[in-house]
Amino acid sequence: MAEKSIEEKKAEIEKKYGKPNNFLEDIVEDDLANGRVPNDTVVTRFPPEPNGYLHIGHIKSICINFGIAQKYHGVCHLRLDDTNPAKEDNEYISAIQKDIKWLGFDWGDKVYYASDYYDQLYEIAVRLIKEGKAYVDSLSPEQVKEYRGTLTEPGKNSPDRDRPIEENLRLFKEMTEGKYPEGKYILRAKIDMASPNINLRDPALYRIKFAEHPRTGQKWCVYPMYDFTHPISDAIEGITHSICTLEFEDHRPAYDWATSIDGIAATPHQHEFARLNVSYLLMSKRRLLNLVNLKIVDGWDDPRMPTISGIRRRGYSPESMKDFVARVGVAKVESMVDYSLMEFCVREDLNKRAKRLMAVLDPVKLVIDNYPEGKTEYFEAVDNPEDPNSAKHQIPFSRELYIEREDFMENPVKGYHRLYIGNEVRLKYAYYVKATSVEKDKDGTIVCVHCTYDKESKGGTTADGRKVKGTSHWVSVKDAADIEVRQYDKLFKVEYPGSTTGDYMDDLNPDSLKVITHAYGEPEVKQSKVGDYLQFIRNGYYCVDCKDSTPEHMVFNRTVTLKDSWAKQQQKQNDPKKAR
Ligand code: ATP
Ligand code: MG
Repeated sequence: MAEKSIEEKKAEIEKKYGKPNNFLEDIVEDDLANGRVPNDTVVTRFPPEPNGYLHIGHIKSICINFGIAQKYHGVCHLRLDDTNPAKEDNEYISAIQKDIKWLGFDWGDKVYYASDYYDQLYEIAVRLIKEGKAYVDSLSPEQVKEYRGTLTEPGKNSPDRDRPIEENLRLFKEMTEGKYPEGKYILRAKIDMASPNINLRDPALYRIKFAEHPRTGQKWCVYPMYDFTHPISDAIEGITHSICTLEFEDHRPAYDWATSIDGIAATPHQHEFARLNVSYLLMSKRRLLNLVNLKIVDGWDDPRMPTISGIRRRGYSPESMKDFVARVGVAKVESMVDYSLMEFCVREDLNKRAKRLMAVLDPVKLVIDNYPEGKTEYFEAVDNPEDPNSAKHQIPFSRELYIEREDFMENPVKGYHRLYIGNEVRLKYAYYVKATSVEKDKDGTIVCVHCTYDKESKGGTTADGRKVKGTSHWVSVKDAADIEVRQYDKLFKVEYPGSTTGDYMDDLNPDSLKVITHAYGEPEVKQSKVGDYLQFIRNGYYCVDCKDSTPEHMVFNRTVTLKDSWAKQQQKQNDPKKAR
């Protein structure tokens, strides 16, 4: 039988796995068609450094790496890239694992640590020295920089570059034995100080560091550098596609150098894509750690943090974030994605799944004077009108209710359709009511609105078919659940934190959290559990706070408003008349 052409093979691959969705999938299909993938098994890896919690940017990388493995029936390894013991911590390792699982991805038993390869890396380093391909350098960090040259000028050879092999071996061994202080020596690859690519001008392979490593403890006082460790870890694990962000593009020649060292069996290839940047958000573990250390936020999982644990606590669903990342797409040019697109995806998803409840956040009492005292009747509410099979729940109604303060106006402005004296509105699920009078305290603040109800309007329709324009949500005073509500907003008030003065701390939003200590919910709110997706009708999407909520004192976090109130607010600031 004639050998199939590449085109035929490609068509078969596309039929089996589906059309490529982006340039990385193009590459994978091309590699499969050309027989460049051993055993036709695509192996990717997600390689976080455990020096902080994962953020929204990482979601993109996780979806790409685990997504490609899933689509092409391959595997994706979780590799903890732990080569910088000073900054790494086991707390971060567990958090990373929890976050990836929450997104719905699974690495099975394929969890690896770069530190697992320290012995192998060390042997390779010794071999390079023996072959005259690496040397121990005594230049100081400043001198190394000076000797390196610039983008336009070649570098200069270090005076140690021709140190005899025997001496290099002895010095490297002594470095390993802890004989020298940090910074005294480094081990460098002997490649080419005149290379147009700076990363090939004798890159450092090992540095001295006296730090306890979370996994290897005190065993080592020399640690391999990223550009040496990463490609060799990929090769050891049989990674076929090493996918990373664009800032590593200039490191690709160093990657290719390392994977072509004699005796390295596999030759993985590195491919770069543009990182995810979202307006209003800081996406750097180092900066996020700074916010945690300065106690600007309540830890890594503060609901205002763009960390996966933060958005989980905030009430975002994993599905909405996967949808967001898919909409953003995979490209090779850096761009800034609008924060409102992310919130749009969150709302789209929550609209489909959130249980609707009534809660009054800024209460004023509404007394129905002609409703019997002591009577309670129940109205049935559909949990989620978007779901045809939705469950239902009962809501108690009585003579005294809470409504939102803004749902009544003593002197209504033009176009106000809610409650004012003489006006009739619908109480959601219940009756039509008409306001009759108000009671005020000595400061003139309204403390109670009186009204009458139309007994015939049960369920919100009347015999004469008359219509009202406004509908208010409400909570029965004697049945109300007293709850705490945390109104979260953006942590930074400008699109590009740091753009105002150069210091992102100057751009913090002072109103990123408003706590309502006493809000009132219908009794059903007490059934809510951590992980439930909720909508407080007309107020926004909410969730139960996983840290501070208890059955006695329930705490709810605002996930997202129902509409993009931010855009409106901005508009108001610019033109107060327009944004009514
Ligand atoms: P940070 O700057 O926040 O510390 P990092 O790139 O140092 O991020 P790593 O732990 O090295 O974080 O990241 C693991 C993987 O996630 C890497 O392959 C990296 O390219 C990718 N990644 C990190 N940030 C983003 C982002 N904003 N968008 C897409 N991928 C990202
Ligand atoms: Mg990093």
